[in-house]
Amino acid sequence: MHRRLVADLIVDVPDWPTPGVTFKDITPLLASPGGFSAAVTELVSGAPGDVDLVVGTEARGFLFAAPVALALGAGFVPVRKPGKLPRETYSQSYELEYGRETLAVHTDAVPAGARVLVVDDVLATGGTVAATVDLLRRLGAEVLGVSVVLELGFLGGRQRLQQLGVDVTSLVT
Ligand code: 5GP
Repeated sequence: MHRRLVADLIVDVPDWPTPGVTFKDITPLLASPGGFSAAVTELVSGAPGDVDLVVGTEARGFLFAAPVALALGAGFVPVRKPGKLPRETYSQSYELEYGRETLAVHTDAVPAGARVLVVDDVLATGGTVAATVDLLRRLGAEVLGVSVVLELGFLGGRQRLQQLGVDVTSLVT
């Protein structure tokens, strides 16, 4: 029931940001008190046990990762676009569905051995999460898995992450 509500509040936007791409707009989900709450509740109920830190990726990942962290009693760590974090960072570049991106994390953001859950809004090709996992493993984190609101199954992100030993949980596929 929760997941149906979540699915119904994600809107297809054809030909955005480029022709041929259908963008999944999650802003109606965020604007719905019941929908937003349902998404966070489902992400929390599917989370593994004993999460120390929840990691969210700029920018939409923050919107789901932060409330999930609070509900799990875990901390929150932002993975950001370059030039945004004020102290020493590790960074990782990767190919996007449309373009190229770099992500960065503070070198001391995660204690070695910390149990970490990655949360994002959408899993498409898996490039964003793969780069995030790479950064987290460089910090010595144990990546427990990734939870997303929406998985675009036809883009193969789940398989790509499985090859890295990372399990995916999605609310809507
Ligand atoms: P990937 O790296 O898996 O190809 O793309 C996922 C990342 O790009 C996520 O951080 C997500 O925010 C963004 N993204 C890619 N496609 C979409 C989309 O259709 N809708 C939304 N909301 N985000 C997308």
